[in-house]
Amino acid sequence: NEVTMWKDYDNTKLYMSDLESGLHYLFRVELASHKTLEGAKLKTFKDFITIMFKLFPGRQPVVKLLETLQEWLVSLPLDKIPYDAILDLVNNKMRISGIFLTNRIHWVGCQGSRPELRGYTCALWKLFHSLTVQAAIRPEALIKTGLEDNPQVILQVVRKYIQHFFGCRECAQHFEEMAKDSMNSVETLDQAVLWLWKKHNIVNKRLAGANSEDSKFPKIQWPSPDLCPRCHEEKGLHNWNEAEVLAFLKRYYTGENISQHFLD
Ligand code: FAD
Repeated sequence: NEVTMWKDYDNTKLYMSDLESGLHYLFRVELASHKTLEGAKLKTFKDFITIMFKLFPGRQPVVKLLETLQEWLVSLPLDKIPYDAILDLVNNKMRISGIFLTNRIHWVGCQGSRPELRGYTCALWKLFHSLTVQAAIRPEALIKTGLEDNPQVILQVVRKYIQHFFGCRECAQHFEEMAKDSMNSVETLDQAVLWLWKKHNIVNKRLAGANSEDSKFPKIQWPSPDLCPRCHEEKGLHNWNEAEVLAFLKRYYTGENISQHFLD
């Protein structure tokens, strides 16, 4: 019910405001429908928080929140966690200094021309792409987490997150089909970056022209030639140069490309 004004933004950039709004939504809305976490769900949530803490290119108060959450989760002897305990931590009920996550939604690069369009799912894609890129750029970040030395690790954690938690069940089903089909063939962290890019384009193709499409943001095979001329071989539009695509993704989804503009 917030009155939102259109914000002009730069589509060559990522916006921290999208990533933080997405995290706020993930913790306080998406997760809220799971009253207790246990078994495979709890394991998935722990792994997700571990890779987020290690790889999310965020601001200090958010990274500190992820760190606190991660330390709490791994030290906990319980095999069952109530959602409310996670929420208390996310809201920093204990008032640990230096922890903060916004509780507002301010979409920038993910704003839609109507409130029901884009937003969270857009931010989630961006978050997932950022994680695959961060892991490829800084693989050492995962040392001693139990998640190192596996080129598929980010994709597997993302896959499980989607399976267990993503509110769009139809999306989860589609994603699981793609994962089953080909995720196992990923052999390097760079291939993981490209795998997610390819699958996202398959989703874009499937959804082009659908009701869920925002006419201001038509579904395209991304990145467009405008955004990355070299990604496209000269002849056909969708004739990709994958080495250039990889280089582009590593520039686009990296910490240095995140704009802090429009943050509270
Ligand atoms: P999005 O597709 O959300 O993309 C967000 C941003 O990512 C784009 O603006 C662009 O900057 C960038 N981007 C676009 N393509 C790529 C790419 N190939 N690689 C890297 N970056 C890219 N909706 C359905 O209706 N049915 C589904 O089955 C479905 N499955 C989904 C599965 C997953 C895992 C997720 C996260 C979402 C799914 N959605 C599905 C939602 C849908 O994909 C879009 O998120 C939604 O329609 C909003 O689209 P958007 O225009 O914001 O762009």
